[in-house]
Amino acid sequence: MTDPEGERLAALTATIRTLEARYGRAPGAVSLLAVSKRQSVAAMRRLCAAGQRAFGENYVQEALGKQAELHDLALDWHFIGPIQGNKTAEIAANFSWVHSLDRMRIAERLNRQRPAELPPLNVMIEVNISGEATKHGVARDELGALIEGVRRLPRLALRGLMTLPEPTPDVARQRAAFAALAALARNAVPPLEELSMGTSDDYPAAIAEGATWVRLGTLLFGPRR
Ligand SMILES: *Cc1c(COP(=O)(O)O)cnc(C)c1O
Repeated sequence: MTDPEGERLAALTATIRTLEARYGRAPGAVSLLAVSKRQSVAAMRRLCAAGQRAFGENYVQEALGKQAELHDLALDWHFIGPIQGNKTAEIAANFSWVHSLDRMRIAERLNRQRPAELPPLNVMIEVNISGEATKHGVARDELGALIEGVRRLPRLALRGLMTLPEPTPDVARQRAAFAALAALARNAVPPLEELSMGTSDDYPAAIAEGATWVRLGTLLFGPRR
């Protein structure tokens, strides 16, 4: 049987469990989000058959098309891409998590547009941890005000923080960026529990520093189309 995604999922899950043990994390503390942007629905179906439920998408139209094609599967959809104001209604109605919230205006729209029959939308605030001018995410010095504002919105459930730091092969620098995000979550009052951090290139460092979600695309699916 050739099921490359299923085999990669099993191997990555084992690696994550090993890293949890190595870094003193509780068994199962780290969840794997399968980042499926520009990957086929056939591959997503194989991953689901192998036990994967949580999928992360960056582009609303692409995600809605896949949701229609995969409607027979019980999947958990996470939005992880930049959020445009004219897409918030579709995000609020069709996702259970948003990892990339970075401004109050978008939070207010998602709160207003979350359908009444659904539970509050789980959100994570994306933080610009590396301070690059081009990157998405709220600046560290504006994070406190955004946390306070989001916590006042009844149709959003603020769960944690997310970051996509400047890429570096230097593991010490990877860990420093993730440690900084973890400190921001720990120092929030009350503290934030979830940390969405780590991609195919740096997830071991993220697990070492407290990630509760690692977002893996390439390692799970192979290169994107
Ligand atoms: C594409 C993407 C990922 C996955 O990246 P890989 O290197 O393929 O694992 C993770 N997080 C975000 C926000 C992304 O856009």
